[in-house]
Amino acid sequence: MLRVDLRAATTGPVETDAEVSPTDPALGDLEVVPTRPVLVSGRLMASGPGSFYWAGRVRTQVHVTCRRCLVPFTLDVDDTVSLLFTEDEDNDDPAAVIVPPRTADIDLGDAVREALILAIPEFPLCRDDCRGLCAGCGADLNQGACGCRPETDLRWGPLHVLQNDEESR
Ligand SMILES: [Zn+2]
Ligand SMILES: [Zn+2]
Repeated sequence: MLRVDLRAATTGPVETDAEVSPTDPALGDLEVVPTRPVLVSGRLMASGPGSFYWAGRVRTQVHVTCRRCLVPFTLDVDDTVSLLFTEDEDNDDPAAVIVPPRTADIDLGDAVREALILAIPEFPLCRDDCRGLCAGCGADLNQGACGCRPETDLRWGPLHVLQNDEESR
């Protein structure tokens, strides 16, 4: 589904629109499996002899857990990708993907997989100003202050606890 015939691309841009199942083998084993089909769009264009430029967009949704308050939430993934598939082994463009000479078709699966992995943050936050959990009582501080300490201290609660641990060793 994500294979593109290169002969077609030599005569003009080829649209690379596809809807891929999140469990499609083309995407390999993803650590965070999308909860919706992965929508791939874009164009593949010849870019000199043996070279093809792909500008694509990858959209889907994933379920992740907020790193601070531990609440699960849905994250929209919408990422653009640009890659140069080339037979030129010496091409050191960071966007270059070296393909064997006389390649008949290109599999965009790896590129889409890579885009998905990059688009999912390692430390997802439900919102930028998520207040997290109280280090003292575990209350979700997004729901309001707990009774432990003045609110201003709570933001730094976990760090403070860590420091105390080190001092007492
Ligand atoms: Zn949160
Ligand atoms: Zn508390």
